[in-house]
Amino acid sequence: TPAELVRLVAKAIEERDATTHAYISFDTQKAVKQAEQADVRSELAGIPIAIKDNICIYGEPTRCASKLLENFIAPYDATSIAKLKAAGGIPFGRTNMDEFAMGSTGANSAFGATGNPHNQEHAPGGSSSGSAAAVADGTAIAALGSDTGGSIRQPAAHCGIVGLKPTYGRVSRYGLVAFASSLDQIGTLTQTVEDSGILLQAICGHDPHDSTSSNRESEDFTARLGHDIKGIRIGVPKEYRTSGNHPRITAALDKAIATLESLGAEIVEISLPHSEAVVATYYIIACAEASSNLSRFDGIRYGVRADTPNGLEDLYRRTREAGFGAEVKKRIILGTYVLSSGYYDAYYSRAQKVRALVAEDFRKAYTEVDYILGPTTPAPAPKLHDSAMTPLQTYLADIYTIPANLAGLPGISIPCPVDGVLPVGIQLLGRHFDETGLLSVAQAME
Ligand code: GLN
Repeated sequence: TPAELVRLVAKAIEERDATTHAYISFDTQKAVKQAEQADVRSELAGIPIAIKDNICIYGEPTRCASKLLENFIAPYDATSIAKLKAAGGIPFGRTNMDEFAMGSTGANSAFGATGNPHNQEHAPGGSSSGSAAAVADGTAIAALGSDTGGSIRQPAAHCGIVGLKPTYGRVSRYGLVAFASSLDQIGTLTQTVEDSGILLQAICGHDPHDSTSSNRESEDFTARLGHDIKGIRIGVPKEYRTSGNHPRITAALDKAIATLESLGAEIVEISLPHSEAVVATYYIIACAEASSNLSRFDGIRYGVRADTPNGLEDLYRRTREAGFGAEVKKRIILGTYVLSSGYYDAYYSRAQKVRALVAEDFRKAYTEVDYILGPTTPAPAPKLHDSAMTPLQTYLADIYTIPANLAGLPGISIPCPVDGVLPVGIQLLGRHFDETGLLSVAQAME
């Protein structure tokens, strides 16, 4: 029964999560109560689903792994959560993450880092670190995460599971704590491609509370699973095949290409000429939007407040000083800088132009091919506290995932086993709103 399932998941968390630390908190009693009322014939059959700590669940803590929101209890359900519940799913457990979804290792959490279940000394990836690690560790059946520049696909790749970022607008962002609103998208972390289709079907659809959500209604994303992919044209960007990729990543890409060819797909070399500009463009736009979005955390409306302030400005300053971690502060400062009057044209406005060029690269590519294949990340998971990695190297690790966010495209990372302990992922991108086709090609490669 659903209640038994919740108890089993709770037991797995209690037994194993002390090392992995994929969860910040979980409330077994509450979930069991919901499970007792769940209908096993519903779409999600009363199955518990782990939820990243930045998606609001009514009456539960929603901390974004930040000290600033340590005491914040969400007063409403995010639309994705309301839909999940309506489909018979049980939100269970708040998964760890990089604070406010800023990071790629999970180490930026104010609640301690998450380990990679395949090797605890390594990072699980981020920012949906806990969602990916929990699914990989068997302490969650499936999870929701958010992806602004790769935060679902990259940890999925590092943990050896499936991560799907839907088309921008496919899933409502209402109730997702905003990082960079024009890039953020909620998606799924699952053990199989089929599970990602089932879960996406439950949470997607138009929402009047999110003006950027699409009018397209939910579809059966599993409809084409198992269909043959003969004759489908798959582009491999020449910019994604560089000597900068780790040898195991190159091996995975070669293997994926061989698999697709053996299934009758046609592999075409394509070019995405603005690939080298995507990281810089992303960090300008993401920081600019973050600086504006995070201005709401002023110690008055949400979360923790500095005591005995000496006036309003002192209240803001001390609340934010104590509440935000170093990475969040860095991004707010960078974002404020690129938006300031003297620098707006040089940085923010140019980044918007480059973003349009990146989208145009994809528009052109999709006149030649149906899907685009590449690595999810340039290397397997780094060590958790790798002091040799500079911030620039960390940012560059997002190079293959960022383009889908800049262009609003759907992307999926699936495991591609090659020799070695740490998993490696391969990424497939599709046209806007072609998740059904994307999943069918991805599943053929599973
Ligand atoms: N790693 C990227 C960043 O730090 C992406 C984060 C995300 O997708 N939320 O911004």
